Amino acid sequence: MKIAVFPGSFDPVTNGHIDIFERASQMFDELIVGVFHNINKKPFFSVEDRVKFLTEATAHISNIKIDAFDGLLNEYVRAKQASVIVRGLRTVTDFEYEFQRAQMMRHLDSGIETIFMTTNPKYAFVSSSGVRELSNFNGEIKGLVPNCVELAIKKRARQL
Ligand code: ADP
Repeated sequence: MKIAVFPGSFDPVTNGHIDIFERASQMFDELIVGVFHNINKKPFFSVEDRVKFLTEATAHISNIKIDAFDGLLNEYVRAKQASVIVRGLRTVTDFEYEFQRAQMMRHLDSGIETIFMTTNPKYAFVSSSGVRELSNFNGEIKGLVPNCVELAIKKRARQL
């Protein structure tokens, strides 16, 4: 069974991520989306909320599992019996960052392969940080994020 892990912050998940999940899940028996829990960073949404949004927004993908983790990614990947890490690429800036991460991963465990999938051009400009920025100023996020995220952001804005 070929298992891949797609790690990330997903704070919040965007339609760009979902597009990569849909394509990557067709290449593996199982795709595990691992929400990285960084205890040193104050998130926009809690890990629990992020997992909830991801679960709802990927209900149509049968071989996907949503999970959360902290600690070293290579150890997490091995614990999940996986040997492939999937990441997405939008820009040259992404490439530089991802390239370095992939080399670090190879240094830690040469048996784990990192693969990259290029963005759907429709979502090339979409990032979680951009969505957070728009949200802070009540900008329109429709079409950039799954419905459940859009509703949660709009509800939050009403409560502030
Ligand atoms: P991290 O904080 O680990 O970078 P993100 O949740 O921001 O986590 O992103 C996870 C992965 O998804 C990264 O590899 C990123 O390049 C990719 N990604 C983010 N947005 C898009 C998009 N619109 N299209 C394709 N890939 C994307």
